[in-house]
Amino acid sequence: MNVFFDVQGTLISGGRPRPRVREVFLELAEMGHHPYLWSSGGGGYAAVAARQLGIEDIVFGCFSKFAALPVSVDFVVDDQRDFAESRGGYTIPPFDGDPNDDELWKVVERLRD
Ligand SMILES: [Mg+2]
Repeated sequence: MNVFFDVQGTLISGGRPRPRVREVFLELAEMGHHPYLWSSGGGGYAAVAARQLGIEDIVFGCFSKFAALPVSVDFVVDDQRDFAESRGGYTIPPFDGDPNDDELWKVVERLRD
C-alpha cells in the first residue's frame, strides 16, 4: 500500500522529530509498503522534513496535500481526525514531545491486521 504520512504534529512537533520514525518507516518498507510524506506546507517542506527525520532514503515521494498525485493514496496517517477518517486512515495523537512516545508503532500494528 501507499502509506501517506502527514508531517506537522504527526512526525514533527515544534521542530522536534517524533521518536522511532526511521525504524517504523523501515518496518513498513520491509512489509512491502511504500511510505510517502505529504504536507499542507507543500512538497518542498515535506522533503526537508524527510531529510531532517533521516528517512529520505526510505520515502517514495514527498508531496503537497493539495497536489494531483501520480500514485494512489491507500492509507493515511494524520493527527487531524477528520482528515484521517475521511480517507479511511489512522488518526495518531499529535506528538507532544514525549521522548518515550510509541504511537507510530501502532501504525505498523494496524497495517499488519
Ligand atoms: Mg498535522
